[in-house]
Amino acid sequence: MSTTALYQTFSRLPLTFERGEGSWLLTDKGERYLDFAAGIAVNSLGHAHPHLVAALTEQAGKLWHVSNLYEIPEQSRLADRLAANTFADRVFFTNSGAEALECAIKTARRHFFAKGQPNRYRIVTIQGAFHGRTLATIAAGGQEKYLEGFGPKVEGFDQVPYGDLDALKAVIGADTAAILLEPVQGEGGVRAFPPKILKEIRALCDAHDLLLIFDEVQTGVGRTGKLFAHEWSGIAPDIMAVAKGIGGGFPMGACLATAAASDAMVPGTHGTTFGGNPLAMAVGNAVLDIVLEEGFLDEVNRKALLLKQGLAEIADSFPGVVSEARGVGLLMGLKCVLPNNVVKDAIAGEKLLCVPAGDNVVRLLPPLTATDEDIREAIARIRTACEKLQTEAQNEAKGARAKGAV
Ligand SMILES: *Cc1c(COP(=O)(O)O)cnc(C)c1O
Repeated sequence: MSTTALYQTFSRLPLTFERGEGSWLLTDKGERYLDFAAGIAVNSLGHAHPHLVAALTEQAGKLWHVSNLYEIPEQSRLADRLAANTFADRVFFTNSGAEALECAIKTARRHFFAKGQPNRYRIVTIQGAFHGRTLATIAAGGQEKYLEGFGPKVEGFDQVPYGDLDALKAVIGADTAAILLEPVQGEGGVRAFPPKILKEIRALCDAHDLLLIFDEVQTGVGRTGKLFAHEWSGIAPDIMAVAKGIGGGFPMGACLATAAASDAMVPGTHGTTFGGNPLAMAVGNAVLDIVLEEGFLDEVNRKALLLKQGLAEIADSFPGVVSEARGVGLLMGLKCVLPNNVVKDAIAGEKLLCVPAGDNVVRLLPPLTATDEDIREAIARIRTACEKLQTEAQNEAKGARAKGAV
């Protein structure tokens, strides 16, 4: 039995980390773990990045919090930089991904309300989606395991199967306001929408005067080798939720939107106490300094290829353990043959951290700053874990055959 007063909502590995250095985490016992979980795609620049440490400590000595009753120059500066580098004209800062989604959902609904079409509040979402754990975002995600026991599901979300464009077309009705999706489903099992499909969905939105909302909480800020994953498809959303990597480990998120989509978000319609506070903004600007540096994303793409090749070879070598390597950039997944938790634990046994995902996938989310050596080391450790699992599985099969022969 646990002796802590904490809610027992998480099943944690019995590991305590005391410090981090780049792609590495050190436990209280002095063991070194290679961190390809990166706080679930959050530590985009690794641990204790000197530029982020400097930005945070400098700001900590000046001012922590004032609230959005006053001007926050670093907030305006980060919004301007995000707008300058994306489709967006406006930015609302939040503290988390779910809050960024809440803002996105409210923005879409309010847009049609202000146009005199208050009936248009429904949003189409995709099976396997994950949008957060608030009441609205569990309704948007539509996963029964997250909805169960929490009362009536928030109204207004219509879900269609992943990859089924006909179902998507069929579900659009007179009350539909928007389509919401992750360009690459992260929790759902590292499933990427092909650029062609995203283009068709964009066209569908234009034809029906719908807003397109992308959840780039996990895929954003360089994770896939572009600043935002949708850039691979050449189309843009009207509204986008961002979080995780944007703060490099400092809790923050943002909702980005075009002027047209967000025009109805006037004073009084939305708010936050902590969102966009000076500490978060100092770090967010520091993250952008690095990610927007000339050549940074080229390096992400080069390293992503290295990782992808290594994982593909592993899938070829151990067909009894993993069947496929998939993903975009440094958001990679191994589709498992054995249960993904068994594979994840075996990999953790080699002191490499990764994250399970839906569809029996193990996710690899290294810091964008991982070195070639880190990636080679990770591949070697996954290979060792798979070797052990494959040998175990073969021995079990042999044992079973021997028994059968008796
Ligand atoms: C993590 C995640 C969220 C929720 O973010 P929180 O910060 O945990 O609220 C939403 N959407 C996607 C795609 C995510 O990966």
